[in-house]
Amino acid sequence: MSGPHRSNDATSAGSAGGAGGGAGGARGADAGARAPGPAASGGPIVGIDLGTTFSSIGVVIGNKVQVLPREDGSRFTPSVISFPRKGEIVVGEAARQRIATDPARTIVSPKRLLGRPYSDREVQTFVGQAPYRTKTGPDGTTVIELWQTDYAITQLVSYLFADVRDLAEKRLGQPVREAVVAVPVAFDVTRIQAVRRAAQMAGLEVVSLLDEPSAAALANRYTPGFGGVVGVYDFGGGTFDFSLVDVSKAQFKILATAGDNWLGGDDLDTVLAEAAANQFWRLHKVDLRKQAVEWQRLRFACEIAKRALSTSEAAVISVPDVMRTAAGMVGLELGIDRATLARAASALLQRSLQVCENALAKAGLRPKDMTAVYMVGGTSRMPAVQDAVAKHFGVPVRTGVAPDQAVCLGAAIHASLIAAKRAKTSAAV
Ligand code: AMP
Repeated sequence: MSGPHRSNDATSAGSAGGAGGGAGGARGADAGARAPGPAASGGPIVGIDLGTTFSSIGVVIGNKVQVLPREDGSRFTPSVISFPRKGEIVVGEAARQRIATDPARTIVSPKRLLGRPYSDREVQTFVGQAPYRTKTGPDGTTVIELWQTDYAITQLVSYLFADVRDLAEKRLGQPVREAVVAVPVAFDVTRIQAVRRAAQMAGLEVVSLLDEPSAAALANRYTPGFGGVVGVYDFGGGTFDFSLVDVSKAQFKILATAGDNWLGGDDLDTVLAEAAANQFWRLHKVDLRKQAVEWQRLRFACEIAKRALSTSEAAVISVPDVMRTAAGMVGLELGIDRATLARAASALLQRSLQVCENALAKAGLRPKDMTAVYMVGGTSRMPAVQDAVAKHFGVPVRTGVAPDQAVCLGAAIHASLIAAKRAKTSAAV
């Protein structure tokens, strides 16, 4: 299967690698992978990873590509929008903090609904669990009713685009009007149009779209041993995708892709929270799963501990003053080590590996046909995930470019190549 063609692309998704022909000498992206200078004739062109759970924006400055940090240093903006009052909109971490306290006015992962008919089975699964009112919009896609106002999903996604664009303008000190956006391979023409429309509503013209595995591969292009057919194992917060990409020629080619739209690191947070809630029940006879706010606080605490376990051997799941019990206010504190986390993750990991097998079968390839598997997405930072993938395939597993930044960095590199090409063309005129 080949990757979908992105209409109007100056350089199509598949040609990302080709456009990368002039880029040289990359190191790990954490340190700032090298890429050609922007040399754009106009303003900067940024790269955007519009993720299901987190979004990010990157740019090439000088010869360094980077994901731009927020004021608190974080490079990731939760893909969450909340409406505390009529006409007031908050985006990102501030919105994420409201998931527990105001779920009926807080929209999580709008990308899941973007450009899809309201009648779509997956949309219905999603809205069936949503604590807010939804309906069919005039164009057949989903509309969410908040404060007596109808919000189309494109509108909501445009707030995410506007938020990261504002961040880039602040960091770069100049207007940002053009972007390369990375999108899943599975996005069809309608969904791609919705991405373009949402970006436009935020004042951004999408100069090119790039499929996510090609973007991740492009970010890794100048790391040692890159070549042949590579696996791109992308384990994010809410979705999992595995793609086989032929990077042997200047033009990258998606050979096959398979995914599970309901498998991600968030599921692991739930598994940990369930275990912690069971323990709390045994001690205090209170079921935290039945308390919306406390349950969300527990899931957040599990996520923090999970992240900590990617760099430490042990961590603590801590929720102070979580519940009033017969004995008064009590907190939850539960130690967890890497081995326990690995056990909790094992069923989810097996599901991800089955998806990989499906992609390999589609492409008619065996694991040893891959030169390496590139780890992408926040969940791929977990040592247990990296170990399981390495053991399952028996090929090198690469994390040289930060897994959670790879897609954004690839989009930014692609953007800089377009800028460089433009500059060359205008210089020649
Ligand atoms: P992404 O959508 O690629 O940003 O991935 C988000 C998911 O990655 C969330 O479930 C996060 O909890 C998870 N994640 C982010 N950083 C880490 C880390 N250092 N270790 C484990 N999981 C992480």
